[in-house]
Amino acid sequence: MAWRKLSTIFGALRELTSRFSQEKKDPVSFWKHRRTNPSIFQEPVFLAGFMNWQSMTFIEAKELSSDSKMFIFSLGDPNLQLGCPIGNSIAFRANLPTKAHPEGEIIMRAYTPTSKIDQRGTIEIPIKIYNKNANPNFPDGGIMTQYLDTLKPGDKVEVCGPKGKLTYFGDGNMDIKGKNYKIKNIGFVAGGSGITPCFQLIQYIIDNNEDVNLSLIYANRTENDILLRDKLDEYAQTGKLTLHYTLDTPSETWKYGRGFVTREMLERYLPAPSSDTLIFFCGPDPMNKMLITNLEGLGYSSNNLLKY
Ligand SMILES: Cc1cc2nc3c(=O)[nH]c(=O)nc-3n(C[C@H](O)[C@H](O)[C@H](O)COP(=O)(O)OP(=O)(O)OC[C@H]3O[C@@H](n4cnc5c(N)ncnc54)[C@H](O)[C@@H]3O)c2cc1C
Repeated sequence: MAWRKLSTIFGALRELTSRFSQEKKDPVSFWKHRRTNPSIFQEPVFLAGFMNWQSMTFIEAKELSSDSKMFIFSLGDPNLQLGCPIGNSIAFRANLPTKAHPEGEIIMRAYTPTSKIDQRGTIEIPIKIYNKNANPNFPDGGIMTQYLDTLKPGDKVEVCGPKGKLTYFGDGNMDIKGKNYKIKNIGFVAGGSGITPCFQLIQYIIDNNEDVNLSLIYANRTENDILLRDKLDEYAQTGKLTLHYTLDTPSETWKYGRGFVTREMLERYLPAPSSDTLIFFCGPDPMNKMLITNLEGLGYSSNNLLKY
């Protein structure tokens, strides 16, 4: 009996050391394996793979701005990590009434947690709520976000994942749509709630003191709409992130950019085009279209541009 226990302990120790040295020797294939098999992400993990639905419990939603909230969910066990690699997202699904199906249909939407990758027991996701009549072009508002906004503590939501075009393995190594890249500079351009995937990468790279240069242009309507500003300002103070905000309607004393993102801003604040530079952007469609045209015009290769 004692011998059996001892051999189990040694077995576990051996596995731990081998995982550690495997990660050091070959971070790309190590993390790839963890991505395709979330069950060995960092045991134990919550996510069971894309389309394997599970429920998590709504705890609360804290106001971040006039239309965005930080949603906090419990994974149901204080030891569980989510199991969502950096760069990936999770999907929510719910049976909700829509115009086409007033009786209800299954709606799925993607969200990007900004809690740290090794957080246990709970996760946080900043979510912008698209309210009815808030925008004359969309009188009905958003289907999923208006539902999420009605959640009460203790309510369950169905989620699955992870999933993503980009998986970051650490130290500038990443997989984008199945190809490996080693990147030295990442320029981010985010609009509104499009900051979430950018934040996830920035947070990880700065927390781990990695040798990757980071720049961010972050566009919003007003100063109050800037999400995660305290953290972003703190990261900019470390000197590891070049940060430029721009606002549609700034106050007179506003010291950063004014108006939409321009070609001049891209040229001034993003890393120059090169094979080890990635420009990652996430915002409303018109902004994304403008970015592709201007970035290609500035000499960035389409291989080095990634729309989230
Ligand atoms: C990979 C990925 C990750 C994402 N991560 C996040 C995240 O972390 N946080 C987050 O908030 N979102 C995130 N999104 C967006 C999210 O998936 C949904 O598209 C968004 O929440 C809208 O869903 P909805 O069902 O409420 O709106 P829908 O019913 O799908 O409405 C469609 C669209 O209409 C427009 N619209 C509707 N009402 C309004 C309004 N009042 N004002 C302006 N426009 C309006 C918006 O463009 C909206 O997206 C992510 C998307 C992707 C693809």
